[in-house]
Amino acid sequence: MAKADQQADRVDGEITFDHVIPAKECYGLTLAPGQRLRIIDIEGQQVMDTVWLSAADPADHLSVMWTNFLNKSWKITKGHTLYSIRCNPLADIVEDTVGINSSTGSYCSEAANRVRFDVPHTRNCYDNLANALAGFGIEKRQIPEASQFCAFLNITYDEDGTHEVLPPTSKAGDHIDFEARADVLVGLSCCPQELNACNNFKAKPMRVMVYEKG
Ligand SMILES: [Zn+2]
Repeated sequence: MAKADQQADRVDGEITFDHVIPAKECYGLTLAPGQRLRIIDIEGQQVMDTVWLSAADPADHLSVMWTNFLNKSWKITKGHTLYSIRCNPLADIVEDTVGINSSTGSYCSEAANRVRFDVPHTRNCYDNLANALAGFGIEKRQIPEASQFCAFLNITYDEDGTHEVLPPTSKAGDHIDFEARADVLVGLSCCPQELNACNNFKAKPMRVMVYEKG
């Protein structure tokens, strides 16, 4: 086992859930305040799109706009907090071995893929996230359409205002950890994009763990 994998297995507390999400697939889970979610890049260069909703009031969901504004940063990483559309804290990022994520709200959808690549009917994160939370009574229209936090998504912003999607810098065993600040529903999409460098042109599996801090 590689050293990075061993580090990914090591948590400060007790693991209560450990699951591999296959390539292009999704998963939904709940977290109570204080519970931690670790997302592990198993092979490297894979993005996980996440959406966060208050379990008590799913309409109060993640806002990347308020998250960026309240953290005074476009580069959301360890030490920052995910905020909802009503500025309620949903989760703190307590570890991030990559340090490059996207909180632009952009992610892959059938419509976006059609416009960007002229390819219809692609597997995409928006549909995945809707499927991930369907079992919790969440309808697709309740999934925020422009407010995802994309772990390890590497978008550059150039001085002239243009941006570009580059391959993730994450390596096998890299991970990001969130600690819930409220009861939350979390949708996870192992990004199925293979039409650009988002996942370096190949969708791969990811691993998720829930643990209680010791
Ligand atoms: Zn995606």
